[in-house]
Amino acid sequence: MNESDTSRHFLRQWIEKGVAEGRTGGKVVTRFPPEPNGYIHIGHAKAVFVDFGMAELFGGECHLRLDDTNPAKESDEYAENIKKDIRWLGFQWSGEGDGAEAGFYNASNMFDKMYEIAENLIKAGQAYCCNLTQEEWKAHRGVPEKPGIPSPSRDTTPERNLEIFRDMKAGKYADGEWCLRAKIDMASPNIHFRDPVLYRIRHVPHYHLGDKWCIYPMYDFAHPIEDALEGVTNSMCTLEFEVHRPLYDWVVDRLDEMGLLVVRNGVKIRPEQREFARLNITYTVMSKRLLLQLVTEGHVAGWDDPRMPTVCGMRRRGYTPGAIREFCERVGVTKVESESDPALLEWCVREELNKTATRRMAVLDPVKVVIDNWAGEAKDVELPNNPLDESAGTRKIPFGREIWIDRADFMEVPEKKFFRMAVGQEVRLRGACIFKATSCTKDAQGKVVEIHGTWDEASWGGNAADGRKVKGTIHWVDAESGVPATFRLYERLFTEKNPLKDGSDGFLKYMNPDSLKTVSGYVEPLLGEAKPGERFQFERTGYFVADEYDSKPGAPVFNRTVTLKDSYKPA
Ligand code: ATP
Ligand code: MG
Repeated sequence: MNESDTSRHFLRQWIEKGVAEGRTGGKVVTRFPPEPNGYIHIGHAKAVFVDFGMAELFGGECHLRLDDTNPAKESDEYAENIKKDIRWLGFQWSGEGDGAEAGFYNASNMFDKMYEIAENLIKAGQAYCCNLTQEEWKAHRGVPEKPGIPSPSRDTTPERNLEIFRDMKAGKYADGEWCLRAKIDMASPNIHFRDPVLYRIRHVPHYHLGDKWCIYPMYDFAHPIEDALEGVTNSMCTLEFEVHRPLYDWVVDRLDEMGLLVVRNGVKIRPEQREFARLNITYTVMSKRLLLQLVTEGHVAGWDDPRMPTVCGMRRRGYTPGAIREFCERVGVTKVESESDPALLEWCVREELNKTATRRMAVLDPVKVVIDNWAGEAKDVELPNNPLDESAGTRKIPFGREIWIDRADFMEVPEKKFFRMAVGQEVRLRGACIFKATSCTKDAQGKVVEIHGTWDEASWGGNAADGRKVKGTIHWVDAESGVPATFRLYERLFTEKNPLKDGSDGFLKYMNPDSLKTVSGYVEPLLGEAKPGERFQFERTGYFVADEYDSKPGAPVFNRTVTLKDSYKPA
């Protein structure tokens, strides 16, 4: 088995086996469980493709479950944007749901049930209240090689435990004073089995439930309960949870004993957990905490800044859902942690946009060219909208006496092999005609201000009537009809491959000071009406998208998605 072959990866084989053995009760149910404490990033996108993708493949359901069991830092703004971003990636949750919305769950809606389950564990002697401090508790837990030390509270009676637990819930204790622990095995080589904490006290209001609770369930307790009660069959998560799996199964066993497992078509659904490697990308940070820091400290313009690895940032940058998916597929679903090169993602974006993006002309660093022998009105040039897609048709662009070209396309005296515009040298103006510069004017600093020259009237359309060869072709924008535009040129946010190499305190010093450059230029008339989010290839320049928010009719703003070419080749 090749684990990186995404079409047959190990998670798929595991699900297949469960289906074949009848463990799913005829329906594969997965879930994507983000915590609404930030926007989702490309790592989450990978989990989205796995969780929703597997459900789709097996004709099942994927629930969207907001894992809002941790009261601090959660918000509805995050929740709404998580939904928006998943939909943009091309997925829709389905299934019953715990409210009005199909397939949608809030883990916090299960708090009553979780509390009841905790009381049941206490009554069965399977959980107890403990008042060790966190440091004491960690010291007692010890190291895998040596058995841990039991808490002095380990053998408190269920009656007394129930009393303390109810007092915890009633708010009689301060944060950290007591917690509820499962009574499992203090000698287990798996330290997650050494009487893990199930509930802790936190006097923090919940974004939906307000002050209703001051005790909150831990992930290891809450997650298997959520999965089980929703009837999830296959619960996929990242590798760091592999060592938690025995505890997950322990909780599911208790739920089974309590008769709480969902029965589907006569089959008792026992959720199973499997783990895959996280997606890591070089030259960026991905933890929501650090992304939030970039936003709150103003190092970027927001969660959707086009330099951010967030889904909304990539959308604003002009990346496509298809390219992100292709990237995740190429990285593959494996059990081995690795780091991916952002150049692979950019390559995927370029591959797709090359096929689909509308071609247009834009001049980002304009210098004026005057065609001295041009007489009369402007004429229309007709160019294809996409040479790779005939059905995209053509467009007409006015061309007249004065045009803009990119400064880099002119040299007064051409260097060797410079086949673009130069005094005394012929160049083709894309789709229009052959032009020869005769002179240029410069300012006091020697910067070219205006170029003059003449066109060959017999070359309308671009080729010489006598068949003589002209090596260079450059793009242009007609000065009279061209529309002023703003261009935002993005580079990587960090100059260092691993910005966290000195720990999470030092990453800011590796920020790229040139990650955003804003320039003004001109675009061909049609681009003046570019719709927000519309993607283009600016000929010879790069792929751009009209900004989702800032681009306005007559005053377009374009974000550079990727440059046109790169030496990167995927393995
Ligand atoms: P972060 O550490 O970036 O803040 P998280 O793991 O705390 O992320 P959650 O909202 O808990 O974020 O994650 C939701 C789901 O997305 C989980 O199933 C998690 O395993 C998965 N996920 C998060 N980051 C990645 C990643 N880099 N690669 C693959 N899956 C990920
Ligand atoms: Mg998390």
